[in-house]
Amino acid sequence: MQNDDVKQRLPARGKKQIDKKIFLLKGEIPVRTDAEEEYLLRAVDAFKRRLCVISPDFQILAVNFTTDVAVGSDIIGQHCYKVFYDRSTPCKNCAVTEAVKTKKPALRPKIDDAMDLGMLPCLYSYPIISDGKIDAMVSMDFDLPTQSGLQEKLERSNAFLQNLILSAVNGVIAADRKGKILFFNDVASDLLGYSVEEALNDLNIRDIYPGDGAYQVMKKLRSEEYGNRGKLISYFVDVASKNGATIPISLNASIVYEGGLEIATIGFFHDLREELQLKEELEKTRIQLFQAEKMSSLGKLAAGVAHQLNNPLGGITLYAKLMMEDYELEEGAREDLHRILKDAERGRDIVKELLEFTRQTRQLMRPNDINHAITRTLFLLENQALFQNIKIVTNLSSAIPPVYSDIQQLNHMFMNIILNSVQAMDGNGELTVKTYNSTNENWVCIEFSDTGPGIPKDVLPHVFEPFFTTKEEGQGTGLGLSLVYSIVENHGGNIKAWNNPGNGATFQIDLPLQNTDSGDHQDGK
Ligand code: ADP
Repeated sequence: MQNDDVKQRLPARGKKQIDKKIFLLKGEIPVRTDAEEEYLLRAVDAFKRRLCVISPDFQILAVNFTTDVAVGSDIIGQHCYKVFYDRSTPCKNCAVTEAVKTKKPALRPKIDDAMDLGMLPCLYSYPIISDGKIDAMVSMDFDLPTQSGLQEKLERSNAFLQNLILSAVNGVIAADRKGKILFFNDVASDLLGYSVEEALNDLNIRDIYPGDGAYQVMKKLRSEEYGNRGKLISYFVDVASKNGATIPISLNASIVYEGGLEIATIGFFHDLREELQLKEELEKTRIQLFQAEKMSSLGKLAAGVAHQLNNPLGGITLYAKLMMEDYELEEGAREDLHRILKDAERGRDIVKELLEFTRQTRQLMRPNDINHAITRTLFLLENQALFQNIKIVTNLSSAIPPVYSDIQQLNHMFMNIILNSVQAMDGNGELTVKTYNSTNENWVCIEFSDTGPGIPKDVLPHVFEPFFTTKEEGQGTGLGLSLVYSIVENHGGNIKAWNNPGNGATFQIDLPLQNTDSGDHQDGK
């Protein structure tokens, strides 16, 4: 019988023999009492995992009583792979085979092919050696299916978490207490310009924040003021990219604690540049709207006043002329009447401007050549005394298509801007006029730059306001640029003014390229 064969191969289980072979300690031979042996055996049985002694050719020599298969003399001598796994050959990744080969304890080799988790072979095996030869093998099964399942699950959930953070839309960076980077996802890499590898090997969290930024973040994290202690919520801060650019970010960060001690910090952040730009544009639009509203109410008021002024001005002109024709006047009186007539004419011009400003004149919209309109305006102005020492540089793109517009208004608009520039330069300097297509080709841009003193910071926000002037009384009405603004608006365009980096000011007008094919068209009241 198989069982008897196995027993014959075994050394007799005498107490002395076991003492000598296994329990030699510092040269002494420890003596074990029967009670001690009994307890040891019971301990092995009480050990809630399978412990099995097998021969190097896989026959079961002994098992503890906690094994999940029925223990009895019928399994002794049988092959472990048959009894425990119902296999006809030894398991593929058997730790026993490994331990027999190396004569050393062996763990089940790493399983890389997809196996039935419930069929995983034993985890751990070690040989019992005497006189350099293997007497038997111990094989331990640490409830393998469950453990591998857990391990597998843990690995899977770790990979999932890692993947989750890696694919976050936010930048994610974790660092240890010394600032060494522990985690750096692709978004952080794209934003800051460091490769993930570079960040993990060479970067310190302090390098990411300009100045004492990292210190400030830690200080806030540790204070109670910015969320709970250890947390920082929606904190706006600048970071520095690898190429030295400063990037504003919104940061949510927290300290990672272990046993009450700080061990790391983790930050989730996003780039604020687009958001800030959008805000800035919104603010600009809000100001423009406000401006437009103000212009509209002032415009109505001005239109009313202009109409009312027209009659008395007509009266003054008429009676002054009659007096000059009908009466013999002294030279002094004639001169005074001339003055009255001149001022009345000036009054009429202002009224005309006011009416134009409030669109009380008819508008004739048609496709116009902007370059031609500019050249014509310049031609009219160039010969005036004020332009004697002004160098005019034109850089007009021949690629710009006609713009659907009112030519009178265009001329008026260009005239106002050019006159302002020349006045600002006090008749001495350079005026550059540029036209070009915007990058998206839907707009025509016109730029006027001068080399004058520029527009003072406190004046700049008001230049398009009606009646705003810095010129002396009688020199300016404060209506020129507000009229320009209103014309640009009328054409669906935009106007901006800024100071040049060196000197002087620039006015940029963008006019939309639309409806150019709809032919002549009357607009206005
Ligand atoms: P006005 O010319 O009658 O003062 P505007 O509306 O045309 O009225 O201009 C408003 C103000 O804008 C001017 O008084 C001046 O202070 C400022 N300004 C306009 N153009 C320029 C320029 N090119 N350089 C400096 N300041 C300018």
